[in-house]
Amino acid sequence: MHKNLIAGRWLDGTGVRENLSPSDTNDLVGLYAQASADDTQSAIAAAEHAQPLWAAKPPQQRADALDFIGAEILLRREELGTLLAREEGKTLPEAIAEVVRAGQIFKFFAGEALRIPGEHLDSVRPGIEVDVLRQPVGVIGIIAPWNFPIAIPAWKIAPALAYGNAVVFKPADLVPGSAWALSEIIHRAGLPDGTFNLVMGRGSVVGQTLVESPRVKALSFTGSSDTGRRILHSAGARFAKLQLEMGGKNPLVVLNDADLEQAIECAVQGAYFSTGQRCTASSRFIVEKGIYRRFSEGVQARLQALQVGHALHADTQIGPVAEQGQYEQNLAYVDIGLSEGAVLACGGRPLQRDTQGYYMSPALFVDAEAQMRIAQEEIFGPIACAIPADDYEHALQLANASPYGLSAGICTTSLKYAAHFKRHMHSGMVMINTPTAGVDYHVPFGGTKGSSYGSREQGRYAAEFFTTVKTVYTHA
Ligand code: NAP
Repeated sequence: MHKNLIAGRWLDGTGVRENLSPSDTNDLVGLYAQASADDTQSAIAAAEHAQPLWAAKPPQQRADALDFIGAEILLRREELGTLLAREEGKTLPEAIAEVVRAGQIFKFFAGEALRIPGEHLDSVRPGIEVDVLRQPVGVIGIIAPWNFPIAIPAWKIAPALAYGNAVVFKPADLVPGSAWALSEIIHRAGLPDGTFNLVMGRGSVVGQTLVESPRVKALSFTGSSDTGRRILHSAGARFAKLQLEMGGKNPLVVLNDADLEQAIECAVQGAYFSTGQRCTASSRFIVEKGIYRRFSEGVQARLQALQVGHALHADTQIGPVAEQGQYEQNLAYVDIGLSEGAVLACGGRPLQRDTQGYYMSPALFVDAEAQMRIAQEEIFGPIACAIPADDYEHALQLANASPYGLSAGICTTSLKYAAHFKRHMHSGMVMINTPTAGVDYHVPFGGTKGSSYGSREQGRYAAEFFTTVKTVYTHA
């Protein structure tokens, strides 16, 4: 049984979770302890005790610990990638790439631990000098979703530790395996006991306890907008520092002058790989009328040739949906699209494979309208809809007509339209002739509108959330 890590000790919880593979629900990945609210409180207390000890360590020690973690993750990429693919269902190459990214993130923040920024200025008053210091926030609660079981925890835990904070980490209940393996590595990195704690279990128990505890000074959350809103109301009311990364309904605009093959590739890669379970996945193709038919037919042909299957099989291009609830929701959205009058060009059906898993064919709706639910609501599956647009201005207007603003793409050979889109698209990330999903780890990540709340994640911008600024005036 895989236990929780609290105050440097591996402890049983009050229940056990069976971690089952979505590729084969008869494949038991492992048994994982479920923490109670009391266990979570113990982890918070341990973190509160350890945080000043960790913050007092020389930066070199923090850098070395993060470097150790990153190096081991990279060394074990195949093994950790296999575990990830098995428990979440993304294909083995996708899972190994995610593990590599997690390792690179720890390496990046190992360097950042040595470069914690500060400023020194002369005061406007004679004889006084001003220092602007960045200091740790304290205990950070980290709440992660299931779709990136190691990379998202990595991009929250690594900066939290680099800047001298202590962590209580709650992974998604669905995928505790990768989180446990990561935590086991962190446990051996030489941190004072209690600096990093793992509490596995349900959001309504473990997550809620983190959200409500006044000793948790900041919460970094990634997940659905509904949960994010609940956290904002609860933790915001006690003035906790919040970083909420939430949903998306990301558009890919395709103009008449686009390179057709490139546009089809961007669409298929961006919308359907990782089974469409990426917050940055394209789910609305907004296509100028002159290229609309050729684009839709091209995407359809590519989808029909994709191999859907077991995450660990070598020829699989699209793995199963990660869990039963999401699977049923995807199929329900296919029915919603049909009832709204969109045309299902292909896919959207359950598939039988040799093993009992959540398999479905990737779906493309054509002739969808912007106000349809399938064009407005986040589905989070391998389903996208194509919406015709009169011209570039119309396409931009449709692209911006969403409560979300995470990632947005445009396929065009026109510098004029690309430059305009870059400035006028209301999203945190803009992709030009490249898929909406797929980002670098050393630059800021996040969105606008209902997609994100608080400061950006990743890269040097992470310092904004994981430190607090102190201004010091010294009369020499
Ligand atoms: P979710 O249901 O909101 O869950 C996210 C996390 O919050 C899980 O660990 C969950 O615990 C926990 N949680 C649930 N209720 C809670 C509560 N009352 N208090 C505190 N924590 C609570 O989201 P999901 O289904 O795992 O992930 C899919 C969503 O994540 C999609 O909307 C996707 O767009 C979004 N996402 C966004 C980004 C981004 O960077 N913008 C990246 C990836 C995913 P349980 O494990 O018990 O459910």
